[in-house]
Amino acid sequence: MLNQIKKTVRSLMSGKSRKAPVYQRREIPREQHTVSRSFISEPAKKVLNRLNNAGYEAYLVGGGVRDILRGERPKDFDIATDATPEEIHDLFRNSRLIGRRFRIVHVLFGREVIEVTTFRGNAATGVDSEEDDDRKTGEHGQLLRDNVYGNQEEDALRRDFTVNALYYCIRDFTIVDYANGIDDLNKKQLRLIGDPETRYREDPVRMLRAVRFAAKLGFTIEPGTEKPIRELAPLLNHIPAARLFEEVLKLFSAGYGEATYRLLRQYGLLASLFPETVKALDEGQSDALILQALRNTDLRISQGKSVTPYFLYAAMLWPALQAEWQRRQDNGEPAVQALHLAIGKVIGRQVQATSIPKRFSGPMKEIWELQLRLPRRQGKRAHSLMEHPRFRAAYDFLLVRESAGELEPGLGQWWTDFQAVDERRREQMLSDLGSGTAPNKRRRRRKPTSHPADRRNSG
Ligand code: ATP
Ligand code: MG
Repeated sequence: MLNQIKKTVRSLMSGKSRKAPVYQRREIPREQHTVSRSFISEPAKKVLNRLNNAGYEAYLVGGGVRDILRGERPKDFDIATDATPEEIHDLFRNSRLIGRRFRIVHVLFGREVIEVTTFRGNAATGVDSEEDDDRKTGEHGQLLRDNVYGNQEEDALRRDFTVNALYYCIRDFTIVDYANGIDDLNKKQLRLIGDPETRYREDPVRMLRAVRFAAKLGFTIEPGTEKPIRELAPLLNHIPAARLFEEVLKLFSAGYGEATYRLLRQYGLLASLFPETVKALDEGQSDALILQALRNTDLRISQGKSVTPYFLYAAMLWPALQAEWQRRQDNGEPAVQALHLAIGKVIGRQVQATSIPKRFSGPMKEIWELQLRLPRRQGKRAHSLMEHPRFRAAYDFLLVRESAGELEPGLGQWWTDFQAVDERRREQMLSDLGSGTAPNKRRRRRKPTSHPADRRNSG
């Protein structure tokens, strides 16, 4: 049997085994696993049952099965079926066909989206270079389109990690494992199916996924899967900016942002996502604010609070902005003008790496610009600042800067108090400022902090 496995692995690596099974198919019956149906959402069950009742095969797959086996409630559900996208669409009025590189169907139940994909074929990794219209590869070996349908086994083998290639059948409650996914799950390791280098070349985003899952699941990356990452990381530069933007959001809003960030740095993957930030860090800027922002974000997510992409981006690009802003001021540009121009420059460069939709870049700029205005509270300013639609985010950002040790504490607390107290007390706080007796102000005058925002005189 060992020989048989060796043979199939060899033939897969040599690129000849288009249809040959790579691993041994295993079926794990209900009594031998811990998947409980109570963890599967009603909409996911509904989709599985309706597909089954219409005569199609349908399985829960991907993170849904993986996370339930780990004893966690999955964040969403993916379903694989032998029904074509059109057939799925016909079966569900509440569905829409999406994607071009990879056509799938979204079935919508209020806010919950069930992703249904048709079994993909041509699983033999990196073998197929036919330039037919359904499966295209580009000059770096990347899959440009992947819409050749196949059977369940082929579908399993074109998935990324073995732990993501487990299928759960709601009809007989068995789990089907084609790639020793259960073993890797027990070993808590991420292993790519097939030849890692080929799989990364097909889709470099798999490197980001390796890091994302490692951080989220607390798994190690199996040595063979880990080895090519550093060298192949630059392949991410060929991924469309819009797809990378989506990946960035997934990387940092899953609740493990800090761990993910550290792994991205470790594997040299951050440079393709935030080239200006990495440059600034290499030149000596600190990433204390990024780490602090990610810690806060992780905490917020664990408390069920929302996080906004513009806040995340404002933090991730802060070192780049600082570097550019400083450079301009060193060249004699006044602070406000320098900040304004630096913002334009940093965003302009960033959108070449990952796009930033306008609805996010606008608020991000405002958060940054407000950092200059938050120290200036006299007269009517404090009240009008509080009316600003981005006041809350800018105030949060200020607190993060303080916790990161970038600013002397004080201003954040002032704003915290100002928001909490009644109007009479506010007037008092403002007149304290105006009379020049506020401890904040005295301190700032005597000993300017290193931050240009606080160096500006407050008038
Ligand atoms: P999450 O918990 O983040 O949803 P997931 O494993 O479900 O994790 P998805 O992005 O939802 O990840 O993808 C669903 C499944 O589709 C994956 O588990 C994997 O089997 C397959 N898949 C997704 N992206 C890729 C890819 N780039 N290459 C190969 N297979 C992929
Ligand atoms: Mg998923």
